[in-house]
Formats: sequence, C-alpha cells, structure tokens
Amino acid sequence: MQIIHTVSELRHWSRQQRAAGKIIGLVPTLGALHAGHASLIRAAHKACDAVAVSIFVNPTQFGPNEDFSRYPRTFDADCKLAEAEGADVIFAPSVEEIYPNNATTFVEVAELSDRLDGASRPGHFRGVATVVSKLFIAAEPDRTYFGQKDAAQVAVLRRMTADLRLGVEIVVCPIIRDPDGLALSSRNIYLSAEERKQALSLSRAIRRVETLFTNGVSDTTVLIAAAEKLLQNEEKIRIDYIALVDWSTLLPVEIATPGTLLAIAAHVGATRLIDNTILH
Ligand code: AMP
Repeated sequence: MQIIHTVSELRHWSRQQRAAGKIIGLVPTLGALHAGHASLIRAAHKACDAVAVSIFVNPTQFGPNEDFSRYPRTFDADCKLAEAEGADVIFAPSVEEIYPNNATTFVEVAELSDRLDGASRPGHFRGVATVVSKLFIAAEPDRTYFGQKDAAQVAVLRRMTADLRLGVEIVVCPIIRDPDGLALSSRNIYLSAEERKQALSLSRAIRRVETLFTNGVSDTTVLIAAAEKLLQNEEKIRIDYIALVDWSTLLPVEIATPGTLLAIAAHVGATRLIDNTILH
C-alpha cells in the first residue's frame, strides 16, 4: 500500500489506474478508523479494482468551538487497518495541500446544508461539500463510499454530485454498531463509562420508533414523542434534534412512510453523537 500526501500524486495514481482499465474507488475519512470505516473500505475493495482511502481532519467542517484540535489522530493504526481491508493508497494531505494559500473557493449546497446537523453546526456541510469535491477532483473516482451513519451528509453529497454532474457513483453502506447497539464513531472514545451507558438510549430510541412504525404508528408527532421520552430519561443527554424527514430533502414529514429517515443528534456530556435509521 502506497502512502501519498499531494494532490498531484493522487491524480497521477488515479490516471495510471484508469489507463490500466481499472475501476477506482474512493473512501473519504477523517481518520481514527474503526470497524465502520473498515466496512466501507471492504465494500470498495470488493467492487473496485483500485481503492484510495483519504485521511484528512478537515478544518473547514469544524465550528470554532468544536473538537478540531483534539479530534483523535491515529495515523499508523489507520494505515494498518486500511491495508488489511484492501486499500491500495492512503491519501493523507496537509491542510495547506487541500487549502493552498488560504483558498477562498468553497462549495455550498444551498438549503440542504442548513437542515439537521447543518442547522446545529453552521458551515459544517459547506466544509464537507468543499473537501469532498476537492477529493473527487483529485482522485477522479468511479465510485465513492459513505456511511449511512452520516445520513444528512449523504443527502448533501448526493445533491452536490447531481447538481455538478460529477458522474461519481455514491455508494451508501449500513451503520456498523457495537454489539450493544451503539453506532461506532471516532468520537465514542470521548465518552466516560457512564456516558457510554446513557448513549445507548440513542439506538434504543431508534429501535423503539422502528417497532412502533412496524406496528402501524405513522404519525410523526407520536413517533418523535416516543423517542424523546427515552432520551429524556438520561440525565447526561441533551437532545439536539429528533427528526423524521424525507431523506433527499431533509424536510420534516407529518406521516412516516417506508424510506422516511429518522435521525437523532444528542449531546452526551460534552460529546455530540448522531444515529439514524431508514424506516421500512
Ligand atoms: P468520518 O471519518 O467520521 O468522517 O467517517 C468517514 C466515513 O465513515 C463517513 O462516510 C461515515 O458515514 C462513515 N462511518 C462512520 N461511522 C460509521 C459506522 N458506524 N458505520 C458505517 N459507516 C460509518
């Protein structure tokens, strides 16, 4: 596995692969890789001939009071995991490489970027859309792999890819969870033992809504109230949002139907966690 640091090397690698007739897969990450990321790399390795994994803690998607400087950075372990899952290249650029001369060009997906996490984290999706478009431009992938874990991000990136006619296929992979239900996240390491215990109420709330929906409850006020009740029981949890929305517009729906996205964000102590499901 090759480790490269510059956009020009990544482009060179990608063009070599293309010239050899290979299908190129790209897995963008912030690093601190876990089994969720591993599942994306594995899926890419299965469906593509050449796989690049990017590891870049992107400053523009973090707000001024967020965890950019203390975000976990575990580069050596990340390389081992990526290689074991079949990555051919790690792209690990510097901030200067991605934003040369304090770059002033950004990509903004209007409207969608202000919903769900975008409402609580102003500027977050502008940072995501900008860095992902830079990665697409540099790596020229055929397919890119994202987790359903960040469902609003998926909606923003699908829209960006369609609007800009980027011609990149976006593959969405299922949420990987710990056996007790907690969705894997690089931020889970911030949780104390007690917070981790209380954080389980996010996946519990999701399962509760799924069960109600399966039993015929579709009024979203009722479904949201049921989720709220579970989360409100935990003293360390502060709900950011509980929403039932159309996955492509991220706008609330009154009546849930199969395909409706249930998304939850909550602060558990000082750590903001998200989780979701697509009702079926
Ligand atoms: P991040 O490094 O947090 O930006 O995540 C990189 C990619 O991994 C994103 O597409 C995430 O949605 C995905 N991801 C993160 N956690 C999980 C998980 N528990 N299961 C599946 N995919 C995940």
